[in-house]
Amino acid sequence: MLRLHPFHYHRPETVEEAVALLTGFGEQAMPMAGGTDLMPNMKHRLFTPAHVVSLNRIAAMRGVALGPSGQHLRIGALETLADVSANPLVRRYFPGLADAAGLVAGPQLRNMGTIGGNVCLDTRCT
Ligand SMILES: Cc1cc2nc3c(=O)[nH]c(=O)nc-3n(C[C@H](O)[C@H](O)[C@H](O)COP(=O)(O)OP(=O)(O)OC[C@H]3O[C@@H](n4cnc5c(N)ncnc54)[C@H](O)[C@@H]3O)c2cc1C
Repeated sequence: MLRLHPFHYHRPETVEEAVALLTGFGEQAMPMAGGTDLMPNMKHRLFTPAHVVSLNRIAAMRGVALGPSGQHLRIGALETLADVSANPLVRRYFPGLADAAGLVAGPQLRNMGTIGGNVCLDTRCT
């Protein structure tokens, strides 16, 4: 069985709190969204952060909305791949993105994995 190393787990509720934690702990900290990539990587000791900063409680990082100009979509980094895939605005304006998000892995991963985590994914090469 692969075990996680001991670490401190933080759950800030605002972007400002998260930034303060990440800045304060510097290279000893990593942000985590759904954890679908980071947790396995930690179990494989690819990363051993002393502090993990969960982003999951930050409401400001969720939501999909048309931008002020009506010319672009703002997609919160914490939107799950399942939600991006099903979102009516994404389906209408970026159907290719909706289709791609809906094809990643399987339902469990799409329900936990976020679009921000997908974009910020680390290489899993050992
Ligand atoms: C079995 C399997 C199959 C997969 N298949 C595909 C596929 O077919 N196509 C595809 O594109 N992807 C695929 N993936 C990757 C999947 O999309 C990612 O695991 C998922 O989107 C990561 O999101 P997360 O929220 O779980 O990220 P996490 O695991 O929480 O984080 C991933 C990385 O991004 C960083 N991070 C996360 N959120 C943020 C943020 N908001 N700001 C800054 N840094 C951040 C973390 O620190 C970490 O380094 C697959 C993964 C698995 C495990």
